[in-house]
Amino acid sequence: MEENTETKELQTNSKKRKSVSNEYSPFEPKKRRKNKEATIPPPSEDDMPLNIPFRVTNGNYKTTTKRRWVGRKIAECFREEFLAYDDNYSYVACKMGRVFVNGKQCTDPEYELQHNDTICHISHRHEPPIMDAPIEFIENNENLLVINKPASMPVHSCAQYKIHTVVGMLWTRYGISGLRLIHRLDRATSGVLIFARNYETDIELKQAIQSNKMKKEYVCKVEGVFPSEEVFCDEPIGRLINTMGLQCTRPDGKPAKSVFRRLWTDGTNSVISAVIETGRTHQIRVHLQYLGYPILNDMFYNHEAWGPFKGRGANYGKPFEQLVKDIEEAHKTSNWHLDKNPTYLQKLELIRDESIEPENLANFGANGLLNRPDFDPICLNCNITRKIPTLDYFRMFLHCRRYVNEKFNFETPLPDWAIEPKVNDHFCC
Ligand SMILES: [Zn+2]
Repeated sequence: MEENTETKELQTNSKKRKSVSNEYSPFEPKKRRKNKEATIPPPSEDDMPLNIPFRVTNGNYKTTTKRRWVGRKIAECFREEFLAYDDNYSYVACKMGRVFVNGKQCTDPEYELQHNDTICHISHRHEPPIMDAPIEFIENNENLLVINKPASMPVHSCAQYKIHTVVGMLWTRYGISGLRLIHRLDRATSGVLIFARNYETDIELKQAIQSNKMKKEYVCKVEGVFPSEEVFCDEPIGRLINTMGLQCTRPDGKPAKSVFRRLWTDGTNSVISAVIETGRTHQIRVHLQYLGYPILNDMFYNHEAWGPFKGRGANYGKPFEQLVKDIEEAHKTSNWHLDKNPTYLQKLELIRDESIEPENLANFGANGLLNRPDFDPICLNCNITRKIPTLDYFRMFLHCRRYVNEKFNFETPLPDWAIEPKVNDHFCC
């Protein structure tokens, strides 16, 4: 989230003075966002961060939220705006001194938010696990960086991912920053990922891609025996579920063109190449679902929630509204929670009602918040047991193999799963 760089002198109201009493501030409120990442020391290789402090600020929404938040009590406002937390959490966080207003500890849950207040909240950041796979460098010079992205990590910060991203790993492991992303790959997708290192290359590569002068080739493993002849798909693609970023074929969608060619099949599944002329979100995944050959471990598009034919021919067997509901239900975040520590909610309720001394965050030393304990009794993530994801969750059988035009040729080797087995017990194409 973006920081609100503006600060405001505290009000003179005595109650507010009392509630914002601790002068120690772990933050420097005027630091600009673009310097923020550089302020976090890199974690060691074998100790990927599970304990990185982060800020919840209203900066990202400052034009709209300021008005809505003004005059509201801080804990109540926090509870209503950030639904992922337990009802009692924001009160407890305030009382324990985890909430800062304009850089000063705010321990009064009743503090009324003022116009321009900068609110910070200290909490564990639990980053989801990623595969232990190296980032391979394909090309690295003063103009560009091209890598073979491992599956399992998003390209840049999103949701709970920050360090466990391509950008985060390049920065923490190789000290590389200031990159300009030319195109994106989904979290579970692997393959060619291009960054420009300067404005000129950025423009050149983006123009080449937008004008279709750059050929983009992927490989994927799909369900079923794919036809031996070339298959062309030009179904338009549009949004299905905004919040999840999911797409579908729809007549009012944007034009999309894909060409598929079978590389080999074992009689059950097939490895195919996909050349896309357009670059719509999830284009290959959506087109293959439409054709009836969904990508083998595509957790979103190869799912029974799309109906008895799993979306083949855009035949869902139910109205759109029901389709959306079924997909949302199938992918609810809570499905990943196995067990919540039964005493957790009780504990929060107790702390909310009892009188406690706020933590003195200065005790955590110069490195401050990074040295906080690994277990935090009020952290929801510390009190949840999650399902252990399967390999399919981390890695989709979709790999960006090549970006090529008359000037550039960025190419990776085939991933293991796309290499034709040498045994003779499958059908050759
Ligand atoms: Zn935690």
